[in-house]
Amino acid sequence: MQIITASQALMPEGWQSDVEIRIAADGRIAEVGPMTTRAAHHLDMLLPAPLNLHSHAFQRAIAGLTEARGPDPADTFWTWRQQMYRFLDRLDADQVEAITAMVFMEMLEAGYGAVAEFHYLHHAAQGQPHDDPAEMSARIIAAAQIAGIGLTLLPVLYQWGGCDRRVLAGGQRRFGTDPDSFARLHAGATRHLRDHGHADDRLGVAPHSLRAVDAEGLDAALALCPESPVHMHLAEQVAEVEEVMAHHGARPVTWLLDTHDVDARWCLIHCTQMTPQETARLAATGAVAGLCPITESNLGDGIFDGVRYLGANGRAGIGSDSNVHIALFDELRTLEYSQRLRDRSRAALATPTAPTGRRLFEMALAGGAQAGGRDAGRIEAGAWADLLGIATDNAWLCDRHGDAALDTAIFGGHGQACISDVWSAGRHVVQEGRHIHRDAIRARFRAAMTALEATV
Ligand code: ZN
Repeated sequence: MQIITASQALMPEGWQSDVEIRIAADGRIAEVGPMTTRAAHHLDMLLPAPLNLHSHAFQRAIAGLTEARGPDPADTFWTWRQQMYRFLDRLDADQVEAITAMVFMEMLEAGYGAVAEFHYLHHAAQGQPHDDPAEMSARIIAAAQIAGIGLTLLPVLYQWGGCDRRVLAGGQRRFGTDPDSFARLHAGATRHLRDHGHADDRLGVAPHSLRAVDAEGLDAALALCPESPVHMHLAEQVAEVEEVMAHHGARPVTWLLDTHDVDARWCLIHCTQMTPQETARLAATGAVAGLCPITESNLGDGIFDGVRYLGANGRAGIGSDSNVHIALFDELRTLEYSQRLRDRSRAALATPTAPTGRRLFEMALAGGAQAGGRDAGRIEAGAWADLLGIATDNAWLCDRHGDAALDTAIFGGHGQACISDVWSAGRHVVQEGRHIHRDAIRARFRAAMTALEATV
């Protein structure tokens, strides 16, 4: 039994002072009550740690390498695609595991308590299947074990290079499965997770997008795990909307909502290209919109209509997607600032009862837990102990309390430096602002990157 005390904590009923939390050996919160005496682990401020609902861990390897312009000024994806495929021709399973462990460690240090990994790098270079088709899933699970992060593994079905069912080419061949080979891969990932995962880990399924998956493939993926989380990229870019319109006769969000029973087990990633009517329809489904504001900014995807969507009580969470910069507080700030810039407004996503910071943080907690199928996101007996400790005794937070401290952490720009502790299902993996295995994980990542960059 671990005992934690905190001077202030964000509880389901709001901010509370002088709280004591007992974490059972199984990683769940056993008891929450008033502090009697300060525990050895005493925190200035305690928050639930949100789940990062969208990540492609291996893309961390190309962070910073995709900011140049190609020969055709209209082709703004040129460097991104070029670098991605260069790395994809080289990356081996050991390097993927090393990169993923680094990414998962960085997520914990950024304040996330768990991650949903949208995993589509299934095969070896040139698309050669591994002897065990779920080998790469096993590597993701191993990386989560090394970092100690709670994992919702989302193996991805990726059939085609576009709505016209063109075959996968180049680096994309490492992603490809058909519904039958994907069913075998998914069964293998299920076994690996059962045998080697944490008790709190979960498995879902991810039909990649309406461009990469046909209607039959989508239904086959849905049938594989009828109770589990379903994640899909949807309505990220204008070109994708046009392609889906041409082949399905409707915009992506409209087509999906018209043809499928989208409900609370769905998480739709990006949704930056929705009409006002689609925004209201999606909000009414109970599904989670998976927002990745830093990556969406980096890729120039467009701005999610958060004002309309949250105003209609839509559910949303936060993902780090390409992992170009892993920073929970920066994601929340980027989302809010995108709304202010578009609307020339202030406090765009605040409500009369919750200032911007708490509104966004509580959104990320509830949306992340739902999207990950994870019983977490709240400081309450029975939930997994995903917890985030913040030091307020410093020049950035100046001993502020409650909403003012949270708004300062998010908008003051130094929130991440104030993170002192993180627990993932009771695993106390960040202590005094550092991951407990930081040096070893970084050294292995650096060695993998050095070997990789020597070959590209
Ligand atoms: Zn993505």
